[in-house]
Amino acid sequence: MIDRSDADQTRVTHAGNRPADNHGIINPPVYHASTILFPTVAALKAAAADHFARPSYGRYGTPTTYALEEAMAALDETDRGIALPTGLAACTMSLLAFLTPGDNLLMSDAVYGPVRRFCERILAGFGISTTYFAPEVGAGIDRLIRPETKIVYLETPGSLTFEMQDVPAITAAAHKAGAVVMIDNTWATPLFFKPMRHGVDIVIQAATKYISGHSDVMLGVITTREELWRKIKATAHGFGHAAAPDDCYLALRGLRTLAVRLARHQENGLALARWFQARPEVDRVLHPALPHDPGHGIWRRDFGGASGLFGVVLKPVPEKALAAMLDGMRLFGMGYSWGGYESLILPSDLTGMRSATPWPAAGPLLRIHAGLEDLADLTADLEAGFARLGAEA
Ligand SMILES: *Cc1c(COP(=O)(O)O)cnc(C)c1O
Repeated sequence: MIDRSDADQTRVTHAGNRPADNHGIINPPVYHASTILFPTVAALKAAAADHFARPSYGRYGTPTTYALEEAMAALDETDRGIALPTGLAACTMSLLAFLTPGDNLLMSDAVYGPVRRFCERILAGFGISTTYFAPEVGAGIDRLIRPETKIVYLETPGSLTFEMQDVPAITAAAHKAGAVVMIDNTWATPLFFKPMRHGVDIVIQAATKYISGHSDVMLGVITTREELWRKIKATAHGFGHAAAPDDCYLALRGLRTLAVRLARHQENGLALARWFQARPEVDRVLHPALPHDPGHGIWRRDFGGASGLFGVVLKPVPEKALAAMLDGMRLFGMGYSWGGYESLILPSDLTGMRSATPWPAAGPLLRIHAGLEDLADLTADLEAGFARLGAEA
């Protein structure tokens, strides 16, 4: 069992494990369950009085689910967690728990694309309006807050464009107006940013990414205080969501090595970012840990590290030159998601993704995920890619 004073490295190693309840076996077992039996009518009634309190039916969770939820809550320094089948479900259930028709939501303009589409297609249909704010808005968010604003939703750095947000300033203004503040903390993980210390109410983690870490799990986790937990849990359960036990197990297994993996992702990410910065084909590198980055001051003030995901804006090139570069990569894979052990490169399309702030870049935007490979092998792969690009330009 972990102690309140334990450091993060100790927490990721032990949180959620209860060998004494499990024959001394270190990892929690994978409970596959639908029906759970009750020995007496009294026990059945006790379970029905509060399905969230103990195992009562598979959909409400099992000790495997609880282990992951407990570990994530410990890392986020809060009371409770909720495991959900995807990261996107963690985003949408957090939103739906606090919104009813007529309400307004303030959303970062650099939010993860599928969340924007959820606001535009699903929430709008329920009569819930979304106002997008510039990620750099800071305390100026107070000018956008209306009496019907119930939620301020943050994601920092922003998806694809990596702008940093002033979380304490935004949170202070939102709380003055009585709004709930939630943040998607997938980029930093609980190891590199502690949103609760800056006043955030609800933390969302796409555990699909770094927590699982091996590109083979879809999972989301929400962490929050006891009183908000019950409301979100009831909403998520009401929609029928339940995370699968094997996925919770794999996420916990991934969590055990998160600290060592992230240190390497950070190291490779920074080295690659600096390498790109020195290339003549590159217009701008979007990485908050680089001193030139506009968000660097906030990152240094609030964050304990940088993960391996960042952006690169190239100088304008013909489409076929970019394709020649990307089609021939040997180690960098091209595909959605990130946070696994392997390096990825993805051309990003911001069409329909910005409404509060324009995206002025003239050249193509790439998203790079620095994996755990040898750095020299990675830069050789990129160097060969730029040679193919140059030959077609
Ligand atoms: C991937 C991602 C999600 C969604 O997670 P899924 O498990 O793919 O549904 C949410 N937020 C961010 C920032 C992400 O990168």
